[in-house]
Amino acid sequence: MIADQPHVLVVEDEMPIVELLRYNLEKSGYSVSVATDGEQALEQVAEGPPDAVLLDWMLPRKSGIEVCRQLRAKPDTRMLPIILLTARGEEADRVRGLETGADDYIVKPFSPRELEARLKAVLRRSQSVLVEERLEYCGIVIDLVRHRVSRNGRGVHLGPKEYRLLRTFMERPTRVLTRSQLLDSVWGLDVYVEERTVDVHIRRLRKALNGVGEPDAIRTVRSGGYALDLDN
Ligand code: CA
Repeated sequence: MIADQPHVLVVEDEMPIVELLRYNLEKSGYSVSVATDGEQALEQVAEGPPDAVLLDWMLPRKSGIEVCRQLRAKPDTRMLPIILLTARGEEADRVRGLETGADDYIVKPFSPRELEARLKAVLRRSQSVLVEERLEYCGIVIDLVRHRVSRNGRGVHLGPKEYRLLRTFMERPTRVLTRSQLLDSVWGLDVYVEERTVDVHIRRLRKALNGVGEPDAIRTVRSGGYALDLDN
């Protein structure tokens, strides 16, 4: 969800443009942070993704196109709204900009009003995409935006690992997942964790998820693994 004051990251090395953007955006109720080169932009996004990025094409250290490509390659920022700012008006360049995954582009010089209209449009689009991002199965709901879980309308509080486990199950309901598949999905491929760690977190997940009188949502498959299964 977009907060009351949407946070926009401006990535631009020309200070007069930065100041113009900052002035106008803040006046319109946005909170603004600034990065002056491509590397800095990626660092700032990694520290805390903004609601949208205004990204200049020609930047020191790493071009806007490269920044855009890298943001699109990561799951966390795959959907982050990006508007490219470009001095290039050529059709081929515009197409290239959009091909790297920018949501929109705007050609310099631009009017603050035009920019704001574009910004509002990408924020609205990303909001409506996010609203749909929930997983549901037999009364269990994960709100992927707010990281909230409920079962039959009751809030379920999960630790981060249990949340990832449940999410993994909810993406493939009724499918049996082996301990090693769950390890890969929740802990990552590079981390060494013993398989019985999975059992510990499954136990915690069950405890949080199964309310009084509710059937066990997790099925243990002997020597196989686990499945989210409420069909029987
Ligand atoms: Ca520039």
